[in-house]
Amino acid sequence: MQVKEIQLRFVKAFLIETDEGNILVDTGTPGSGKTLQNYLKDVKYIIFTHSHVDHIGGASEIRGLTNAEFCIHEKGKEYLEKGLIRKPVVHSLGLKIVFPLFSLFSRGLKPTKVDCTLKDEEEIVKGVKVLYTPGHTDDSISLYLEPINSVIVGDMLQGRGNYLTYPQIYENMGEMIKSVQRVLDLKPSFIYVSHGKSMNSNYVKI
Ligand SMILES: [Zn+2]
Ligand SMILES: [Zn+2]
Repeated sequence: MQVKEIQLRFVKAFLIETDEGNILVDTGTPGSGKTLQNYLKDVKYIIFTHSHVDHIGGASEIRGLTNAEFCIHEKGKEYLEKGLIRKPVVHSLGLKIVFPLFSLFSRGLKPTKVDCTLKDEEEIVKGVKVLYTPGHTDDSISLYLEPINSVIVGDMLQGRGNYLTYPQIYENMGEMIKSVQRVLDLKPSFIYVSHGKSMNSNYVKI
């Protein structure tokens, strides 16, 4: 099993390559389809870590280019299917000032059909397990990649310089703390994050 990071506009997507087929995780902001179409070969599932627009934005652009199943947690389904913007809950003054920009990169979000909803502890393909990890949003999931003892956490942690920490955008801090702890209890060796640098779990500072 191998993970490739796909750098999109200020956010990453991930390609998990397995013996049972590949999984694309997240689709960037609207307009990312052009880059993502180069990674669709052998992709069986397109999994969304949560329904913020920088993770579901490119979905509609690749929907017609693949037979892969598009899957998201139940609580994120309508954002994807109706093309709704999930408003980010911001807890930092600096970000609040910058945030009018948000509507700019949200433009072009279109509805995308969902094929399946993701449940806690579900195994998508052998060795790839869904963990329901709410907090950043109520539909946030992480993916535990057992063969390489790594976790893709989406936005639940983010790379800041040379360490990983909580994001300044979250819906429920208490839940996020619990969810991060659940991931750390697995003692993963590597943590993949959507924003900033992915790194060894020793670099988590919370
Ligand atoms: Zn997010
Ligand atoms: Zn994000």
